[in-house]
Amino acid sequence: MHYENLHSPIPDKNKRVGVIGGGQLAGMMAAVAKSLGIELVVQTPYASDPAVAIASQSIFASIDDAAATAKLATLCDVITFENEFINLEALTPLAEQGVCFHPSLAALAPLLDKYQQRCYLQEIGLPQPDFISLGASGQSINLNELEFPLVLKVRRQGYDGKGTLMIQDRPSLDSAWQQLEYQPVMLEEFVGFERELAVIAARSLTGDVVVYPVVETQQEEQVCRRVIVPADISSTTIAEIEAIATTLLQSLQVVGVFGIELFLTTSGKVLVNEVSPRTHNSGHYTLDACETSQFEQQLRAVVGLPLGSPTMHCTGAVMVNLLGYEHSQDNYWEKRQKLANLPHSFVHWYGKSQSRPGRKLGHVTVLGKSSQRNWQQGVIETVESLWYG
Ligand code: ADP
Repeated sequence: MHYENLHSPIPDKNKRVGVIGGGQLAGMMAAVAKSLGIELVVQTPYASDPAVAIASQSIFASIDDAAATAKLATLCDVITFENEFINLEALTPLAEQGVCFHPSLAALAPLLDKYQQRCYLQEIGLPQPDFISLGASGQSINLNELEFPLVLKVRRQGYDGKGTLMIQDRPSLDSAWQQLEYQPVMLEEFVGFERELAVIAARSLTGDVVVYPVVETQQEEQVCRRVIVPADISSTTIAEIEAIATTLLQSLQVVGVFGIELFLTTSGKVLVNEVSPRTHNSGHYTLDACETSQFEQQLRAVVGLPLGSPTMHCTGAVMVNLLGYEHSQDNYWEKRQKLANLPHSFVHWYGKSQSRPGRKLGHVTVLGKSSQRNWQQGVIETVESLWYG
C-alpha cells in the first residue's frame, strides 16, 4: 500500500472541511487540520465547546439545525461528523442539492439506530450477539421466553453507557421499559466477555482501507477508562478483526474513519459490539503513538488524500481517560502538570468549562518500550492515583 508523504500540506489549494459537532473529537481534528493546511469550520451550539477555540471558524447552532448546515456547506468543500446524532432526514435535501458529506448519508443510514445497525451487520455476515427489538410496530415477542441476564439498549442517542442497561430478570425488564415510556428498544444477549477490544479503520475516496492496531479497552460502569495498545491477542484474532473492519468499510463504501468495538468471548470468539461512524475514544492513542493519528486520517480521507500509515512508532502505549469526579470549574492545572511530567507522557486537555462526574475532560497517553502487563498496570496506577487521588 502506498502512503502519502506524511504530514505534508495539501499541495494545490487549501481545503475547507466542515464538521457537524464541536466537542473534543472535532477539537483534536481542528488541531491536526492546521498542520495539514486545512481550514476547519465547526457547527456547534456553544462558544465554550472544545473545538471552537481551535477551529478556523464556528457556526453556533444546534447540530441538528439543517439551515445552519446549509450555511456550513457554503463555507466548505466537504462536511464530516464527530458524532452519530445525525438528522439524516434533514440533511438529505442538502445531499440532493450536491453538498458533499463524507461519510455519505447512505453509508451512515444503517448505523445510527442500534437495532438497524445490528440488522445491517447481520446482513453482511459479521459476528455479533443475538438481538431482538422490543416495542417496534408490527413485531410481537413473547417476553416469557426471554433468557436473562440480557442487555437493553435504547436505539438512538446513547453514549458512554447512557441508554445501555444490564437486566437481570423479568421484573427489572418491565420496570426499565416502563421508565423508558415503552419506546422501541433493543434487547441483546449478555456477553460474558473475557476482554473488550476495539479497532480504528479508515477508507479513502479511492477505496483503500487501513486498519490500526487492535487495542484492549477497559470499561467501568460502561464508560471507557483505559486503552491498552496493542491488545495481547493471537495473530488469528487480529486477522479476524482486520477482516471484520475491512468488510464493513468496503460494504458501506465509507469515506472516513470508523471505530469498531468488539467483545472477545471466553471461548476466543470475536463479536462486534458497536460501530461508531467517526473517530473514537479507543483511537486517541494514535495521536502520540502512530505515524498518522485517527484525526489526520479522517481529514486525509474526506479531502481525498491518500491515507497515511497507521503504524505505531513505539512498542506499546497506554491511554487513560481523565474523567470528571466532582462538579467543578477547576482546570486542574497542577494535576495536569504532574501527569505531563511522567516519562513519555502526553496530556490532552479538552478545555471544558464544567467538570462533572464521569465527563470526559481529557486523556493521557504514555508511550512505552514494552507491551508487558506489569508496565501497563504500573502506568495505569500512577496516572489514576495522580488524577483521582
Ligand atoms: P454506548 O453506545 O453507550 O457506548 P455500548 O453498547 O458500547 O454503549 O455499551 C457500553 C458497555 O456496556 C460496553 O463497553 C460493555 O462493557 C457493556 N455491554 C454492552 N453490550 C453488552 C452485551 N451485549 N453484553 C455484555 N456487556 C455489554
